[in-house]
Parts: sequence; C-alpha cells; structure tokens
Amino acid sequence: MADHDPQLFNCPDCAAAPGQLHEEGCDHAHCPDTGCQRAACDHNGACASRWNGDFVGAAECREWNWWLIEDPELGLTPCPAGTKDAIEDFNRLLTHARWDADLQRYVRTDLTTT
Ligand SMILES: [Zn+2]
Ligand SMILES: [Zn+2]
Repeated sequence: MADHDPQLFNCPDCAAAPGQLHEEGCDHAHCPDTGCQRAACDHNGACASRWNGDFVGAAECREWNWWLIEDPELGLTPCPAGTKDAIEDFNRLLTHARWDADLQRYVRTDLTTT
C-alpha cells in the first residue's frame, strides 16, 4: 500500500465532497456495477454512486505502481513510481484489471506483468 494518502478533493464535476453522492449526470460518477462512467451505462441513472475523494481506479494504479509520464517525443510512457509529474495509468485498468462490483474497486487480471 502507499505510505501516504493523497489529498482528498471534491468531485471536479459536481463538487460532491468525499463520501457524498454524485449529482445526476456528473461526468465523474461511476456505475457501481460496471465501474464505468454512469453516463455510459444503461441503468438510466438508477445506479447512484459516491465520490470517494479521488478518481475511481487511482488508488489501484498507485497500489500497483502503474504510472505514466508525458514524454515530449514518445507521448505518455510508463514510468516508475516516484517519477516527477507522473500521472496514474488509468488506461491500464482496462487491459490489466477488471472492476469488481462486490469489492467496489478494480482487481488485477494480469499478474504476470509489473
Ligand atoms: Zn460528481
Ligand atoms: Zn450503472
């Protein structure tokens, strides 16, 4: 686990405080069933979800050290944890992890890569 908690912040779209429900139509609200954007799921807004103070999947990326850095020539490139200005590699959640609706977090599906 990370040895420090990042600063929690309010939802950038609907301004929900950590622990509050997102407002209807919020771009950052995720579907509790699929982990995807609620705007993209077919539950017609019936799947309320809470903002937990950080982007969905960000804690998982940090836990697994999935980081990207913007390289001027190569674009976004994987990089080690602790790299200056690195961002969480959310794309990798789609290929190396899946959403677990029971745990309400991503779990790794590919345990062979680092
Ligand atoms: Zn929101
Ligand atoms: Zn849904």
